[in-house]
Amino acid sequence: MGRHGRFLNPRVLPEEERRPIRGTTVRRVVGTFRPYRGKVALVGLAIAVTSGLGVVNPLLIKWIFDRGLFGNPPGRCAGGACPDLDVVYLGVALMVAIPIVTGVIGIGQTYLANLVGLRVMQDLRNALYAHLQHMPLRFFTSTRTGEIQSRLANDVGGVQTVVTDTASSILSNVVVIASTLIAMLVLSPALTALSLFMLPFFLWLTARVGRARREVAASTQRTLADLTAVTEETLSVSGILLSKSFGRQRFEIERFRDENERLTDLQVRQTMIGRSFFAIVGTFFSITPALVYLVAGWLLSGGSDALTAGDIVAFTTLQSRLFFPIGSMLQVSTEVQSSLALFDRIFEYLDMDHEIVDAPDAIELEPERVRGSVELDHVRFRYDTPPEDRPTPISPTDLAEERMRRWTLDDVSMRIEPGQLAALVGPSGAGKTTVTYLIPRLYDVHEGAVRIDGIDVRSIRLESLGRLIGVVTQETYLFHDTIRRNLLYGNPRASEAELEAAARAANIHDRILELPEGYDTVVGERGYKLSGGEKQRLAIARVVLKDPKILILDEATSSLDTTSERLVQAALEPLMHGRTTIAIAHRLSTILAADVIFVLDRGRVVERGTHEELLERQGLYARLYEQQFRGGLVQAACEDGVILASGEVVPRAP
Ligand code: ATP
Repeated sequence: MGRHGRFLNPRVLPEEERRPIRGTTVRRVVGTFRPYRGKVALVGLAIAVTSGLGVVNPLLIKWIFDRGLFGNPPGRCAGGACPDLDVVYLGVALMVAIPIVTGVIGIGQTYLANLVGLRVMQDLRNALYAHLQHMPLRFFTSTRTGEIQSRLANDVGGVQTVVTDTASSILSNVVVIASTLIAMLVLSPALTALSLFMLPFFLWLTARVGRARREVAASTQRTLADLTAVTEETLSVSGILLSKSFGRQRFEIERFRDENERLTDLQVRQTMIGRSFFAIVGTFFSITPALVYLVAGWLLSGGSDALTAGDIVAFTTLQSRLFFPIGSMLQVSTEVQSSLALFDRIFEYLDMDHEIVDAPDAIELEPERVRGSVELDHVRFRYDTPPEDRPTPISPTDLAEERMRRWTLDDVSMRIEPGQLAALVGPSGAGKTTVTYLIPRLYDVHEGAVRIDGIDVRSIRLESLGRLIGVVTQETYLFHDTIRRNLLYGNPRASEAELEAAARAANIHDRILELPEGYDTVVGERGYKLSGGEKQRLAIARVVLKDPKILILDEATSSLDTTSERLVQAALEPLMHGRTTIAIAHRLSTILAADVIFVLDRGRVVERGTHEELLERQGLYARLYEQQFRGGLVQAACEDGVILASGEVVPRAP
């Protein structure tokens, strides 16, 4: 099998790419046009009129030939054949007018077809983005950002030509083929049969080429997504920092080159598939007029008087009209197959389950009425789906083994009263962050319940839950935008005075004023133009503006310098005041200030109480305390107290 055979042979592609065209995909694609029914109908009408008018010209040729130029028998006029000039004038006028009318209608038709196509793309992009916004965190932790971007940009962009050009091209080709065939049959059924005897073979080949193209298109899009993901990962600020600091640029360039080469190979295959097939079709249609003259010669010499010169000229003109639409239909059908692969990829994302959604009877909580108690009641949670909840059942042995595997959170119960500060402490991987994910429903518990003011969070509307909770994480995320816009994300309706008050409360106002454009300074990609401490204080100001009832705080472990640490600490204290705070505590001051400390170990709450109570128990907490805050980590003593290695200042006991 030659090079072409490789293009056509589905066996060279992985199993998953050899999916048949699904009727549902086609129905859904058609469904995306539904809002634009009126415009689509208008485009259809315009196409039918212009394509139908196209068949008139060849018939006019016959009329001009048979009735105009050679209408009178030779000899009736002086000097041979005598044209009927009235017929010639009318015929010529119509032959000029029809293309002009067709052209004008065509402009309107192109405008409308493009408008509909681009609007369909816009709808698809909007639907996809909105759907992704509601996807659970689980989806984003397991999918590469570049892959998601690729579906939104490359896949939706890739179907654009189909929705703008292909749909209208199919319709116009059908009308042209049908009208031309009718005209040809009227002129000469025998010559029509001659022109079309190869058609079934072409149709069969088209189906094969189309299938192969669809498969390669799916591979191409996947590789494009990989390439986008590699670019996204390695050319982001964090990615470039990593590759520069590890001296891995050469490796990254090689990796990119490999992916890029794979993409080019696939694109070459995609364009080459079916090229020689189209060449055969083209050659056949180019030589058929010669065959027509030959057969016409035989018919005429056999004494047939059914054919006139006009018939033969009109017939070959019609035949040449047929070549373009048939070739284009074959081409279009392969393009349709390629874009169905893209639609499949888009629909695959649109069909993904949101998992965490509002219950039908979910309630709205007014922030003013919320007191802010938080309770975890015998909570069990794991990041993967528990075996009994999976769609496909597994064998009893596997089930038993799976059950043996640890829950990330196992029978965790906590109760935090309104306004209390609760500190979560424990070794790395104990499940502290996971606890904080369950309160705003970033994940749902598998057993037990999380409640706010005694109400299960699953019965509260997600938007309303989001308004109640403010989160300050270790890694501060800022948009590439001005400081003002970043702060207003916490409360878009905040006034200038409120904005400044929040910045003052977070000890960042003076620093902002020192920046070249104050509050209008653009912070750079993810805030890389700011120091770690400044970013944290901005994040605190953002939450101050939001003024949530419940605050979740993941204290940064990264050591800031003493001044920065003090500023952050001073910003946090008033923030915690008067609201329920759940802090993953790394600072001694937070632990000492906590009303209740929960000590987690391997997904379980192993101890709970105040600092003094827990020290007395001489358990895990006491050991952690010794290791982290006593054992040599005190770097220096100062007037106010002691400075830990982390830079934190622990005040002297009064
Ligand atoms: P640290 O103090 O190091 O941040 P932690 O106590 O906050 O740790 P968690 O982040 O809650 O611990 O993680 C608890 C366990 O869950 C760990 O074993 C971790 O590997 C696992 N885990 C965390 N996130 C995921 C995830 N998205 N998918 C699968 N497992 C995860």
